[in-house]
Amino acid sequence: MLDRKYIIQNAEAVAKNCKRRGVDCDIERLVALEEQRLAKLQLAQDLNRQANEVSKKIGPAKDAEERQQWIEKGRELREQKDAAQREHDELDTEVAELQTVIPNLTHPDAPTGGEEDANELSFGKTAKPKFSFKALDHLELSEKHDLLDFESGARVAGAGFYFLRNAAVRIDLALQQFAISFLSDRGFTPVTTPDLALTSVLHGTGFNPRGPETQIYSIENTELNLVATAEIPLGGMMSGQTVNVEELPLRLCGLSHCFRTEAGAAGKASKGLYRVHQFTKVEMFAFAAPDQSDAIHEEMRELECELFDSLEVPYRVIDTASGDLGGPAYRKYDLEAWMPGRGEAGEWGEVTSTSNCTDYQARRLNVRFKRPGQKGTEFVHTLNGTAIATGRAMIAILENHQQADGSINIPKILRPWVGKDVLSTED
Ligand code: AMP
Repeated sequence: MLDRKYIIQNAEAVAKNCKRRGVDCDIERLVALEEQRLAKLQLAQDLNRQANEVSKKIGPAKDAEERQQWIEKGRELREQKDAAQREHDELDTEVAELQTVIPNLTHPDAPTGGEEDANELSFGKTAKPKFSFKALDHLELSEKHDLLDFESGARVAGAGFYFLRNAAVRIDLALQQFAISFLSDRGFTPVTTPDLALTSVLHGTGFNPRGPETQIYSIENTELNLVATAEIPLGGMMSGQTVNVEELPLRLCGLSHCFRTEAGAAGKASKGLYRVHQFTKVEMFAFAAPDQSDAIHEEMRELECELFDSLEVPYRVIDTASGDLGGPAYRKYDLEAWMPGRGEAGEWGEVTSTSNCTDYQARRLNVRFKRPGQKGTEFVHTLNGTAIATGRAMIAILENHQQADGSINIPKILRPWVGKDVLSTED
């Protein structure tokens, strides 16, 4: 959430930024309502002061009649004050509602436009495979190796749910182990997170459990929701806390299940594991001082590249355009892995995403830091980045490492955990 004062003082620039990001926000209305709110606040305070002055006159009143008059006057003023306060509170709620839909500011170097306007920044170390045979997609490979069971998944929980089987279970766990140990070695504290979070935490991190574009499964008659990403509990973990600047940056990597309704995703290329309702993800998260956040964002991007280079998967890095940033991100980089079975002849598919959310989430979550000798506190910056979302990483591994004889090479880095070098059709 942007600071209300900042929005009022920079209304034109904020409106321009909303337009650049393709978000419909009525800044003029917000400014007008905020003016009315401040006037009501002033009125309520004046009436309160007058009522206090009147109450002082009750004691020294010369007789019962005068006392009664002051009592009446005081009651009248308090009723007027209460009415002004109620109107103020309604205006405050309305301003807050408009304020929450305003997206974060945008990094000046982020490209402007939609999905197709993203900048291609770089490529990974592994070249796209050149197959001398017709490459299979991950579902065809799964059939050969008995890896995925979407039919039973649908029987149990509906379309978009699945069972992993045999080596797929080992690969899934290996990806989690690899990501956690890789990040632990690089100063990230590993945590497992609750799979449920309170609605207030979802709001704080910029997810809307009740909005029209929700991705969130909510538990009826409770304030609990299934998390769509560990970013939600990791951000919520520090809500309402103030840390000393020396403790920053705080680097965490969270392992969680992710649940998404994927409402509105119909029609997007989403075969098999690509777009499912439940998957597992290791997520990087950092709380940082404002002057650290750009560097940590670059660090997260580099770590994602290292992870996917280690998995021997071809990928490209893109700088996401303004219209595709969502609400909280100031800048976002995605890694897109080459998926030979996607589309007619292979396509890039997003496997990771890292965002610098500056103080947008921290303001809502109220996470602050204090500098030594400084009286007040400031909001921290928050950053998040996918280390490995196991489903899409599995697609990239199976499809890129398939061989002419139908076998699939396991990336070297995963072999100790998977317990074999190759998945053969004879297994
Ligand atoms: P996001 O939190 O939306 O930036 O997603 C982070 C990563 O999670 C993506 O880059 C994908 O690898 C993965 N992912 C997102 N949505 C899905 C889904 N519905 N099914 C499978 N993987 C997903």
